[in-house]
Formats: sequence, C-alpha cells, structure tokens
Amino acid sequence: MLTPGHYTTLPENFFARLSPRPVRKAELIRLNKPLAADLGLESDWLSSDAGIAFLTTGARPDGLGPVAMAYAGHQFGHFVPSLGDGRAMLIGEARDHEGILRDIHLKGSGPTPFSRRGDGRAALGPVLREYVISEAMHALNIPTTRALAALTTGETVMRETPMPGGIIARVAQSHVRVGTFQYFAAQGDQDAVRILADHVIERLYPELSGAQNSYLALLEAIITRQAELVAKWMLVGFVHGVMNTDNMAISGETIDFGPCAFLDEYDPGKVFSFIDENGRYAYGKQPDMALWNLGRLAEALLPLLDQDREQAIALARTALMSFDDSFGAAYLDGWRRKLGFFTSEEQDAPLIGRLLTVMHQSGSDFTLTFRRLSDITCADDDTPFVELFSDADDIRSWLKDWQERTGREQQTDSERRKAMHAANPRIIPRNHQVEAVIQAALKGDFNPFHMLVEALADPFSNRDDGLDTPPSMQERIQNTFCG
Ligand code: AMP
Ligand code: MG
Ligand code: MG
Repeated sequence: MLTPGHYTTLPENFFARLSPRPVRKAELIRLNKPLAADLGLESDWLSSDAGIAFLTTGARPDGLGPVAMAYAGHQFGHFVPSLGDGRAMLIGEARDHEGILRDIHLKGSGPTPFSRRGDGRAALGPVLREYVISEAMHALNIPTTRALAALTTGETVMRETPMPGGIIARVAQSHVRVGTFQYFAAQGDQDAVRILADHVIERLYPELSGAQNSYLALLEAIITRQAELVAKWMLVGFVHGVMNTDNMAISGETIDFGPCAFLDEYDPGKVFSFIDENGRYAYGKQPDMALWNLGRLAEALLPLLDQDREQAIALARTALMSFDDSFGAAYLDGWRRKLGFFTSEEQDAPLIGRLLTVMHQSGSDFTLTFRRLSDITCADDDTPFVELFSDADDIRSWLKDWQERTGREQQTDSERRKAMHAANPRIIPRNHQVEAVIQAALKGDFNPFHMLVEALADPFSNRDDGLDTPPSMQERIQNTFCG
C-alpha cells in the first residue's frame, strides 16, 4: 500500500510540503517492473496517466502531497547549514515483500523551497546514468537506492547547453542522511536530533531500540554499515565522486549518483569528477572520507550520547575507532573471495597488496584482472591474464605465489573458478558505455540504454556480448558531470 510515509509524520520543520506541479509532457522511458511488483505497485497503474502523474509530480490517489526533505551538509569539507531537497521530493512509502518499508523519491521534479539558485530540474543524461549505475550496483550485491522509473518531461533544462529534462523515481530504505542530523544539530535543536534518531532507529535499526544507550548503538551500527558499504565499493572499483555528508545515507545504501564512475585501469588516485579539483574523493581516499563524514555524524549526535560532554566525546571517539576494524575486516574478506581463497592466512594481506602494486604499475584493467584470474584456475594458458600487465615478469612472479597459496586449499579448480566468478563481475557499467547510451538517447534511440540495463542485471554470468571490453584510447572518458 502506498502511504505518504513515516517521515511526513515528523515535525513540520523536517520538510516542506509541496503541491504537485505537472511537467509539460511526461513520458515513461523505463519502468522497473520487478521492483514495482516487489513494492506492491501495479505496473499497469504506474504506466497509466495517474501513475505517470505520480512518478513526475508525486500526486497520490489519497490526495496527500509530496514533501521536500530538509538537510544540511559538508560539501567538499565546507559546511552548508541549509541544503535540502532542491530538486527532489519524497512522494510516498511502500512495503516490499520482505516487509521492509521503502521511500519513493523523485529527482528532477521541479523547484522546492530548498532550490536556492537551482532550477529544480535534472537533465536526461544524469537520469539515465543514475538508472544504469544504481541498478548495476544492486545486481553487484551492493546496498543502493534502486531505480523505479526514468521519464522525460518534455521540457528543456539549461546546462552547458540546452538539454532534454528527465526525472528519476528512486527507492531507498530511507533518504535520511548524515546531513539531516547536521541540519538540526547546527541549529542547536537537540529535541529534533533526538526525534530524528528515534525515527531512524524505528525505521532502520529496530533491533537497537532496547539497547542500554540506543543512540551510541545507533552511531556504532551506522559506522559498521558505512564501513562495509565502502569496502564493497572498493572491491568493484566504484568511485562515488561526491561523498559530501548530504550524500551519505544513514541506511548504509549508496545514494546520489552524480559524477560517479567505475575504474577501468586500477589507480588509487583516480578522480572522475571535474568539480573535485583536489582529489578529495579519489578512489583510494573513500574509506578516509567515509570516516570523516562519520565524525560529523558523531558530532551531531554528541548531546544524545551522554549528558557529560567529555564522556560523550570519549564514547564517540571509541565508536569512530571501530571503523578501521570494520572496514579492514570487510575489505580483506572481500579480497579473499575475489582471489578465490576459502581460508585465511596471515600473509593474505601482503599478497593482495603486491597484486595491487603490480596492477597500478601496469595499469591493468581492474575488472578484467580478476575475471581472467578466475579463469586461470581451469586453464593451461595464463596469457589472457598476463597480457593485461605491461610487465609480464612481475605478474608471473605474483601468480606463482598465488598458485602456491591456492594449492594449499582442498577445493578443486572448478570449485574455485565458480566461487571466483561469483565474486568477480564480468561486466560493470563502464564510463564509455554509459556515455554511449546517453548519446544515443539524446538522439532519440533508447534501445542501447535498455540493452545495457538488461545486461548489467546479470553481471556475473559469461556471455558473448562484448560488454567486458575496456575502452579504446579514443573511447576513454576522463570526466563525468553532474547535472
Ligand atoms: P547534489 O550535488 O546532487 O548532492 O546536490 C547538492 C544540493 O544541491 C542538494 O541540496 C540539491 O537538492 C541541490 N541541487 C543540485 N542540483 C540542483 C538543481 N538543479 N536545482 C535545485 N537544487 C539543486
Ligand atoms: Mg545530494
Ligand atoms: Mg546529486
């Protein structure tokens, strides 16, 4: 059942009520029917005039309007006390088949009281990008907002050049962010921080409601989820691009797909976003940046942790110190799975580190390296793997140690290959592919977009579609844009 959502029962200063505002000519590009069904929403209804009105304006059958959520945030390290949904709105809540409540949100649906100087709109390109990448993340088993629908608005939005307007309907367990806590904390409104924390516990962390210090338990749980999330990003070569505190969801879901991208060749310093001039959110800095954001969350929660400020700070520090352990464990565990290890050995971390060093020096393709390593298990020929590296001697010497390591385990080669294929995707949404489907869509051909979305729904199976091929020199995309 579609309801306005628990968030709209919170105090009025948590959001701004909006009245639905139609777009010029809304058309569905793609509806995620399995996701709709999972939420108990009829695809026939979502494709009807009433459904399209819902997906573009938030107009619900119950007549209750959408809301724009209030939040603050540190953008590239600088605090902005009032950001909020400037081009997004919460349009409802539905329960999925597992009984989990999910928010439905629109992005690109027009101005709100939080729009500041923005136009409240989204261009078609970024809408398609978010659809492709968020659904790919889901298929890669990474917690993420999902894409329910992509639509065109029949309107033109002004970016560097005039672009067709688009709207994405996305689904998350919650759109509460670190920045939502910061919004109230910065106003000194401790009651609101507490109400928000209680809402989050009830909604996302119900198992903590009986804890002795439930707010400390909440902070600890969020730290663990974020550590595990960022480890998962690292293991597929995902670069979020704008890890501002307003783009970090309390639920531990990946949120806000702006200038995000996946690594082709492995490079810890890789930055795609042209607005990230100092490389703050480079691939290899993501764990540090997540911890920095969690520090801001801990600050916002301080008054709830203990009445004594010194004691609250001590509790927050200890909680934040657990990040490294949680991240390290999830990261090492993930690497072991990628390398086909069924057991743990002391020397695993240095062995992984050595591979990453050779990959970096050789500029080997991140995704292909692990997929082809998976195939070596059952092949006599290591050439397809070795040729990914500019220095064959270095990688052959590593390969010998890896073979010795796996040789100490009882599993058969085919068992190992099966496990490695399940841990190492064959395909990821490569930048040049995403860019190509956007360019085709801008010319009116949405087929490549649909085909890419469908292929990426099954990223681990072997297929002969050529989508695993890295970009050629001419196809390489250096920058991604938000908008
Ligand atoms: P983002 O970079 O997408 O995370 O957005 C940061 C903040 O800027 C959020 O408060 C957004 O709602 C707002 N914002 C981004 N683009 C626009 C736009 N075109 N119109 C209004 N607000 C926007
Ligand atoms: Mg954002
Ligand atoms: Mg954004």
